Amino acid sequence: MNTAKINLLVIEDNPGDARLVVDLLHEARPEKYVIECVATLKEALRSIENNTYEIILTDLALPDSEGYDIVSSILAHDDEIPIIVLSGQDSDALAIKVVQMGAQDYLVKGQGDGYLINRAIGYAIERKKIQKGLNYLAQYDSLTGLANRLLFKERLEHAITRADRTKSMVGLMFIDLDRFKNINDTLGHDAGDTLLVEVGERLKKCTRESDTIARLGGDEFTVILEDINHIEDASLVALNILEAMADRFKLNDNDVFISPSIGITLYPLDECGYDGLLKNADTAMYQAKDAGRNCYRFYTAEMNEQLLAQMTMETKLRNAIEKQEFVLHYQPKFNIYSRELIGAEALIRWSDPDKGMISPALFIPLAEETGLIGSITDWVIGEACKQNSKWQLQGYKPFRMAINLSPKQFNQDDIAKRIVSQIICSDLSPKYVELEITEGALVKDVEKSNEILNELKMKGVHVSIDDFGTGYSSLSYLKKFPLDTLKIDQSFVRDIMIDADDAAIVSAIIAMAKSLRLNVIAEGVETQAQLDYLQAKGCNEAQGYYLGRPLPADEFVRFLSSKSDSSTTPIIHCA
Ligand code: C2E
Ligand code: CA
Ligand code: CA
Repeated sequence: MNTAKINLLVIEDNPGDARLVVDLLHEARPEKYVIECVATLKEALRSIENNTYEIILTDLALPDSEGYDIVSSILAHDDEIPIIVLSGQDSDALAIKVVQMGAQDYLVKGQGDGYLINRAIGYAIERKKIQKGLNYLAQYDSLTGLANRLLFKERLEHAITRADRTKSMVGLMFIDLDRFKNINDTLGHDAGDTLLVEVGERLKKCTRESDTIARLGGDEFTVILEDINHIEDASLVALNILEAMADRFKLNDNDVFISPSIGITLYPLDECGYDGLLKNADTAMYQAKDAGRNCYRFYTAEMNEQLLAQMTMETKLRNAIEKQEFVLHYQPKFNIYSRELIGAEALIRWSDPDKGMISPALFIPLAEETGLIGSITDWVIGEACKQNSKWQLQGYKPFRMAINLSPKQFNQDDIAKRIVSQIICSDLSPKYVELEITEGALVKDVEKSNEILNELKMKGVHVSIDDFGTGYSSLSYLKKFPLDTLKIDQSFVRDIMIDADDAAIVSAIIAMAKSLRLNVIAEGVETQAQLDYLQAKGCNEAQGYYLGRPLPADEFVRFLSSKSDSSTTPIIHCA
């Protein structure tokens, strides 16, 4: 006989009826039940949340619920608990309905004794167990314990709906094991089964808890990847899977090697809907087989090309740092009134042996994504500072060197220290360094940004907001941060002579900067008319092709004046 106690919840608003059930059960099976009684559905749900019950006995007429809704309310809360309805109504129709709703049994009050209720409880618990087992069989693959086709379909449809809501992507992978048939034929089906189970285990290790891995049959697996933001997220998982499968499998003392072919499709970039996605992923899987197996392919050619281009670029970018293929160009900044050179901005270029000069707009985003930006910035700071200090040693009048900081780096813990130590290593006083940071980078974590900026300021580094006007432009943070300069974004400057709105924005920024006692510079100045307008509005500094293009160090010297030269330097036009 089973001696474990059974926790029972009785939901009954009539205290007499509740008492009776408790007494009957205690009489029939003393010591067997730990019984708790509640009088309303609300109390019942609270109890279910806080305790575990093996079984629930409920009346159908409660003060806050009437009829079989009680059953669905309980199951909606916890669908694992068996339920027996104990009703005052002797109705066959109601009894059937209640069982259809998910209850295990229907008893009528006053019919039967404690022994009968006890037996009904035992049956109800068993019935629920069987039902759970059937549910499991209906949704899971019995060999691997992974989701089966049915559950996979449900999950994929759910993931699609969710992605629509969260504006993210869903990746679907179709994985087929290469030459699996050989294993079955040579080592037998048991070995084949063991292999499939192990493959399932390895797939689990390559994915997140929230992803769904399914076995559709044979050696075909699928993986649903949720919350994908870039196609690379999906390719990263594919790479992990390829790596995980590359290890030997031990099957009855045999070392077996197996490789997967993986096809990937992304919702909503590719075809929508369950059938479409499955077909795409399958097609892509065959592309992977055609490409020589043990690899992955995306469904669309563009995605494959994009991925290939990106991978090649990434490898080259990594090498570029070692091979020192980067160069800095310097663009002068002038005081509009005195026409004096007041600074320079260091702008990186990648001189690729095959492609020639590559614009930072093309490789900085990739460097940010891959984390290479850290080493690149270190190099830029070192190189720009060394160059600046060299010019000073050569007797040129000192000026400030501006360096662009990637927003991605601004979150790094030690960023201020890292920057300052790079500057000091290159024998330049930090007061000759200015950092250009975008607004977005600063407002992400205002407290932390403030700390970083203060640390930099204390060392004498200047700070300016780059591309000002394109981001948040919130006055409250402008006042909060220890800033020196606002740099008006070139998109406004470009159209000041033709677009009244842009002209208004530019003069508003200038006025605002002045009232906050911040320095203001306009970038992207390409004509005399723009320069005149800026000057008329009281902007004191400017930078742009009209005044000087970014140039390599040896050509930049033409903008420099020697220390002893006290006369003002005329602006050199080289548009
Ligand atoms: P940015 O910081 O806004 O830099 C100004 C960009 O405008 C530079 O492009 C510059 O060459 C260009 N420019 C300057 N004057 C004019 C003009 O009169 N007209 C026009 N149309 N363009 C002008 P560049 O060098 O291609 O750099 C593009 C962006 O790449 C930069 O935008 C900056 O965000 C990023 N970048 C450049 N060097 C670095 C670097 O060393 N580190 C980081 N993190 N980013 C960099
Ligand atoms: Ca800049
Ligand atoms: Ca800019």
